[in-house]
Amino acid sequence: MTLQPWLLPAWRVMSEALQSRRVHHALLLAGPKGQGKRVLADAFAAAALCSNRMPDGGACGACRSCLLVAAGSHPDLVRVTFELRDDGKPRSEITVDQLRNLCQRLSLSSQFGGLQIALIDPADAMNASAANALLKTLEEPATDTVIVLIADDPSRLPATIRSRCQRVDLRLPTSQEALEWLRGQGVDADDAALTLEASLGNPGQAAAWIEDGTLALRAECIADLTALSAHKAQASAIAERWAADRPDSRLWFASVLAREEARRLTRGERGTFGLTARAEIPKLAAWFGRANRARSLLSTPLRAELILLDLLRGWPGSERTSRRA
Ligand SMILES: [Zn+2]
Repeated sequence: MTLQPWLLPAWRVMSEALQSRRVHHALLLAGPKGQGKRVLADAFAAAALCSNRMPDGGACGACRSCLLVAAGSHPDLVRVTFELRDDGKPRSEITVDQLRNLCQRLSLSSQFGGLQIALIDPADAMNASAANALLKTLEEPATDTVIVLIADDPSRLPATIRSRCQRVDLRLPTSQEALEWLRGQGVDADDAALTLEASLGNPGQAAAWIEDGTLALRAECIADLTALSAHKAQASAIAERWAADRPDSRLWFASVLAREEARRLTRGERGTFGLTARAEIPKLAAWFGRANRARSLLSTPLRAELILLDLLRGWPGSERTSRRA
């Protein structure tokens, strides 16, 4: 079993519980997107169902259970994730029907006589009625079932759910560990440093951005915000463009860039966006917070373009320029 090095502390906690048969009936895997929560949950599920675990606690990969897990057809492993709507697009929430089906299934005994494992991913996308249905099962857990909740943002789960789970927090690696791991994936040193800065030290996210080309959006954000500071672009045109293509990733990059800009100005350095006045520092810090709030609004019915327009109109550089004008 090869897990990313920063997952090992969490893995040991889960694996030791499994081997000593003291697994909590509900585990909450929490940590930022891209850190490897799903990889960890899959490794745990495979190990829990394996009939011949390896000395490191991992699944053997060869027994009947392991083969069924690999084929996605183990009868005692249930995955609950976004269903597809009639138009073929995934839903944006996990529904009460899905949870009712899950709870019904877990109330039956396991087919192979061992544990039954359920993975709810992402658990923080359960709507209120779905969370309620799950709560009933958590209050009266069946023996030999383990429900694993995977959440980027566990604060979105009701406190009543959180309090009934054993929380497993994934830690971020040190910057040295993260750099070494990215270099080991074939990423060159400059790109590794840049993406780690942009991902706030999350190497799994950094690698995903490099692989799928999302990192290029960061350069577009720099160009757009610089143009906004220089009054060479309209906030409305940028908002329209950002809303049409991966607004979530653009807002992430923009918020981190604002934070970095504030840090550079604090150190007396010239910023990326040509801002120089120390008076911009608190404005950039405030804008960082607003950008993060705007990002969470993207999953609501509010129109992305309006959310972005409101935010971009408040970009510190553009306010300064318009006051001078
Ligand atoms: Zn096995």
